[in-house]
Amino acid sequence: MNEEIMNTSQLISVIGLGKMGLGMAKTLKRAGFAVRGMDLSAQACQTARAEGIDVAEDLPALLSGASMIVLSLPNSQNVLSLVEGTHGLAKLAGEDTLVLDTTTGDPVLTRQVADILSKEGVRYIDAPVSGGPRGAESGQLTMFIGADHSDIEKAQPVLEALGAKRFHVGGVTAGQIAKLVNNLLVASHLLTASEAFKMAESAGVSIEQLIDAVNAGSGRSGVTLYNYPSRIMNGAFDSGFTMGLMRKDVNLAMDLMEQSGLKLPVSSKVGAIWKASAAALADGDDFNRIVTFDSTEN
Ligand code: NAD
Repeated sequence: MNEEIMNTSQLISVIGLGKMGLGMAKTLKRAGFAVRGMDLSAQACQTARAEGIDVAEDLPALLSGASMIVLSLPNSQNVLSLVEGTHGLAKLAGEDTLVLDTTTGDPVLTRQVADILSKEGVRYIDAPVSGGPRGAESGQLTMFIGADHSDIEKAQPVLEALGAKRFHVGGVTAGQIAKLVNNLLVASHLLTASEAFKMAESAGVSIEQLIDAVNAGSGRSGVTLYNYPSRIMNGAFDSGFTMGLMRKDVNLAMDLMEQSGLKLPVSSKVGAIWKASAAALADGDDFNRIVTFDSTEN
């Protein structure tokens, strides 16, 4: 991010000041944008104010004067509820306002959201992210972008501030599809790596002994390179991404698979195991805990 660029003329509203949204609000402020936020949770609002973010009480106050609205909500149902209706965001945001939706969500609902906004002349980009709270706070996110070229051009300063790596995958909803592919792969790699490492341990070789070798070999993945050394092997389980959110993403990938009419047996099994994990691992647990889940019954 170029700290030199000052963008004080542009007001950005951020809706959802949770683990990701608050970090993004702070990054945008640091980049020189005027930033105003909103969250349904009093606790999240209090934390945001303590971090120097101006927090609005309601949607009209939040949107007044904003040229862009960044969303970071738990799921697409939250986005749809926010956008639709007489007092919803679509009616309240001015024509040509641009919505940048960083929520990881459902491509079908995302299309509905984009259509509702479009009827009121409000533009929409789906840009789910990867990189966790740390990436949000440092402006180092990876962004999976679905949008028209002209909207990306308009959003460029904000995209540059938030995302160190930005991929324009296709039109609206393509960002969501790419992000679901990414998270289905992470969810699968966590399960396969944990099984392979159990096999090694029972054969007398510990994870500590073999991890560097695997990471220099062709069996490596983001999970072996990053999750194992920095979140799992040290017992930290502190990624900031929860079981509840990953189960949502895996379920969305299962929906997409079903809609496509494809039979994908390995992915189906992955989906079944993540679903069954709800009985043992709480929504608020770190998603890396899946490696501790006994999936032999599933
Ligand atoms: P979070 O639960 O910490 O934050 C979401 C916030 O949205 C909460 O504070 C909640 O009160 C607020 N909210 C819900 N509905 C609202 C509404 N209608 N209006 C205003 N505020 C509302 O979740 P998070 O971890 O910040 O994740 C946000 C999104 O980013 C999710 O879609 C998630 O899948 C995605 N994501 C998270 C991570 C991560 O590491 N945490 C990484 C990549 C993507």
